[in-house]
Amino acid sequence: MSARKRRPVLVIGLGRFGGAVAETLERMGHEVLGADCDSQLVSEFAGTLTTTVEADCTDTKVLEQLGVADFEAAVVAIGTDIEASVLAVLALSDLGMTNIWAKATNDKHARILERTGAAHVVFPEQRMGERVAHLLNERLLDFISFDGEFAIARLKAPEPVVGVPLVTSGCRKKFDVTVVGVKRAGENFIHAVPDTIIFPDDELVVSGRISDIERFSAI
Ligand code: ADP
Repeated sequence: MSARKRRPVLVIGLGRFGGAVAETLERMGHEVLGADCDSQLVSEFAGTLTTTVEADCTDTKVLEQLGVADFEAAVVAIGTDIEASVLAVLALSDLGMTNIWAKATNDKHARILERTGAAHVVFPEQRMGERVAHLLNERLLDFISFDGEFAIARLKAPEPVVGVPLVTSGCRKKFDVTVVGVKRAGENFIHAVPDTIIFPDDELVVSGRISDIERFSAI
């Protein structure tokens, strides 16, 4: 944990997603106020978060009392109860909070959250589902997508690119995939340059369109 605390963050909903967000922020040095209407969850997090409170966060007055104006950001981590999620975002927005992050369970939910004032809408379940599907491909070791279109992936070097410098391996020309970094067993990641020669057990970090990375990892 960093010595200097950053500005506080309000996390509403301490379920699996909200709990993970709150604990990670706390580890990163933020002060976190974790709020949930479930008293048991609130006491579970009392030891790990700066402050916890049992509260119905759909109520503007309650949020006002929590001092919303003093927070750097608010994360609305309510997914199952869509009405509560939307009302909490609306209440935060009414109180002038602009940096609102909210979890959505589907596209319609996301659109409502955006209209009611959420600046950032995330889909943790869908994202994780996509990731797991990609990681089932044995060659892919890690996978992060952006806007369902572009991705950065870590993968075992496909055989056709082994033993030749990147510039002649055709990653770019044939697959439209850019090798960003290379990891050799027992060594740190290095930036890939045109002359880098790939060894059989190397791991590559590549960027590109999802479909191109899928094609590249299957050669
Ligand atoms: P996850 O799948 O991440 O566990 P859930 O939607 O199941 O997400 O959990 C959301 C959390 O939000 C629950 O702990 C629930 O008690 C809490 N919650 C729901 N409605 C409110 C509300 N009005 N105010 C505060 N917390 C709420």
